[in-house]
Amino acid sequence: MSHSFDTKVVHSTLNQRSVVKSKTTPIYQTSAFSFANLDELEKYFEGESDYLYSRMGNPNTDELAASVAQLEGAERGVATSSGMSAILAGILAAVKPGEHIVAAWDVYGGTHHLLSKELPAFGIQVTLVDFSELERIEAAIQTNTRLLYSETLTNPFLRVENVYELVALADRYQLYTMLDNTFATPYLLNPFELGVDLIAHSATKYLGGHSDITAGVVVGREQLVAEAEQKVVALGTNLSPHEAWLTQRGLKTLSLRMSKQSSNAQVVADFLREEVLVEDVHYPAYVSEKGNGAIITLELGEDISVERFFESLGWIKITPTLAGVETTVSYPIKTSHRSLTDEQLEAVGIDEQIVRLSVGIEDVKDIKAELQHALTAAEVK
Ligand SMILES: *Cc1c(COP(=O)(O)O)cnc(C)c1O
Repeated sequence: MSHSFDTKVVHSTLNQRSVVKSKTTPIYQTSAFSFANLDELEKYFEGESDYLYSRMGNPNTDELAASVAQLEGAERGVATSSGMSAILAGILAAVKPGEHIVAAWDVYGGTHHLLSKELPAFGIQVTLVDFSELERIEAAIQTNTRLLYSETLTNPFLRVENVYELVALADRYQLYTMLDNTFATPYLLNPFELGVDLIAHSATKYLGGHSDITAGVVVGREQLVAEAEQKVVALGTNLSPHEAWLTQRGLKTLSLRMSKQSSNAQVVADFLREEVLVEDVHYPAYVSEKGNGAIITLELGEDISVERFFESLGWIKITPTLAGVETTVSYPIKTSHRSLTDEQLEAVGIDEQIVRLSVGIEDVKDIKAELQHALTAAEVK
């Protein structure tokens, strides 16, 4: 389909097989599918029909996987029960026990835990390094290294991964690359088109967009994703049809939401940079021509009581997630990065004054006013 992104994102729904022509895809809320006779059943195993048992495949999860694959320009996708299970399935497709991963040390807290604690217990070795310097990545590559793992936009400091350089390095050593594209979404970045093999999403965030589901998707090269799909079936980390349907409904407005949220965030970031009570503002200078994303990380000044700042944010709620249509605020040291040791926190640069803002679709004047109010109220005179 040669349509533009904004058209594809609305129209990437299933071809209706049903005799009832509903405008939207029905929810196939079923654990299994039925067969008229043994010949029909046999056809499933010969590959002539698609569905047998929902853990192995369901029209709603397939619809979501195909949509995200299409939006990323990838060959194939699989939907999973969460962002974490999407990351796990992708990694297990690329790396076997006895092999090694070089990963960015500033990845999402849950991913950091998966890489540093869970995978080594399965015999997969991991080295976490600072990905902002290519030489450090190269120095960590071993003879059994199979995968370079990072995120397109990191949390909470919004470092923009240099995808070109990473792919070139991986090519030189014949390694796979996998990036978590949750913060940027396919609206801003399409790493597959730059040569990245696997792209993971926490669909819980922008793809769903309404903070009402937990879901994941991994897309990429045909063979790797087919392997990831087998892992999902075997481990039982499939997504439920209803969650897939809700995610697909949210996905249709991805362009509208990301466009508004990114432009609001740019205004808020510019405003906060002028604010003397804010020590530093982390917001990318450039992510894509469509915008720079909607997450801003603030370093509050020493004159600000963080506790009072949170208390004074009336309608901006403290929420340990991001990407919903509402503006929310979170506190990395007590949530996403809680499991890090003091040394790790210091290395990554997270302290008590760091606050993360997820900018929503509200009128940006109101967002600025609320932040201004909370900053003023939180000033320790
Ligand atoms: C939230 C998040 C995850 C984990 O996703 P879940 O859906 O909570 O499992 C992974 N990566 C990033 C960047 C995230 O923000």
